[in-house]
Order: sequence, then structure tokens, then C-alpha cells
Amino acid sequence: MHAESSSAANAEPIQELLVDQLRDILHAEKQLTKALPKMLKAARSAQLQSLLQIHLAETEEQIERLNEALKLLGAPARAKACKGMAGLVEEGEEVMSEGEEKEDAAADLALIAAAQRVEHYEMAAYTTARNLALQLRQPAIVQLLTMSLGEEQNAGQLLDQVAQPLMSVAKMPNAVE
Ligand code: FE
Ligand code: ZN
Ligand code: FE
Repeated sequence: MHAESSSAANAEPIQELLVDQLRDILHAEKQLTKALPKMLKAARSAQLQSLLQIHLAETEEQIERLNEALKLLGAPARAKACKGMAGLVEEGEEVMSEGEEKEDAAADLALIAAAQRVEHYEMAAYTTARNLALQLRQPAIVQLLTMSLGEEQNAGQLLDQVAQPLMSVAKMPNAVE
């Protein structure tokens, strides 16, 4: 980061971009509060279900943090259509309908794959927004975004952990073919 280049003259476009990014993430998270309950119902393993349940609660807190961050910037907490997340949610729905005909482990692994794309998309969004907030010297916003970024990273790691035992189960029936 080039903190010294952050003069009053160029702070405005950065602030505008941050507001725009926060509004996009707000809509992304709102879409997830609708998608996660469906994914949770589709999940077969108890670990995956509880992971998604916990992340749903975290997602609701993340929405509160985004509202607060927008308030700190004096911007109305209006959401902006996030097409990226809409596409990822759509892929998740595909995975769930395809999963109906699959074995438990295979269906859950496909669900985890879809969920990981969501988590990594969010990590990219929060990392960028946090960098913009750092540049604007908005420590309260940096703190809010750091908390949410940490939750996304943790969710990604937990998904990887849940996938591990499922992979050894999933390879058994196919190995015979
Ligand atoms: Fe999130
Ligand atoms: Zn987006
Ligand atoms: Fe997430």
C-alpha cells in the first residue's frame, strides 16, 4: 500500500469504490442467507450440515457489519445486484438437483465444491474491500471487514476438513467399475 499517495485529492474515488464494493458484498451475503438453508437441507453428512448452519449465523452477522461499515462512510445501506454470487448460487442449485441421484459422499463433495467457490469469491471481495479501507485510514471498517474475512477463511478451511473423510468413502464404490 502506498499510504503517502492517499491525499485528499484522490481519496474520493477510492471511497466511492469502497461503497460500491460494500454494496455488492451486501447483496452477495443477502443471497447467501437464502441459499445456505437450502444447501443445509441438501447436505447428507451431519458435519457438513452443522458447518453450513454455523456459517448461516455468521453470514447474518456479516450483513450487520456491512450495514455498519456503510453507515461509517455516510452511505445508505443499499445493496447493489451482485451477479457473481447469483451465478454461484445458480451453480449450487444445479449441484443440488444433480446430487439427488448421487451417493451421500459424492453428493456432499459436489456441494462442498460449490460452497468453496462461494467462500473464495467472498474472500476476494473482503480482501479488496479491506485494502481500500486501509488506504482510506478507516480502522473501524478495517476491523469489521477483517472479522468477516476471518470467518470466510475459516469456513473454507472447515469445508476442506469435512471433504477429507468423504473423499475416502466416495472413491470406494467407483473403484470397482
Ligand atoms: Fe459471507
Ligand atoms: Zn459481486
Ligand atoms: Fe461465506
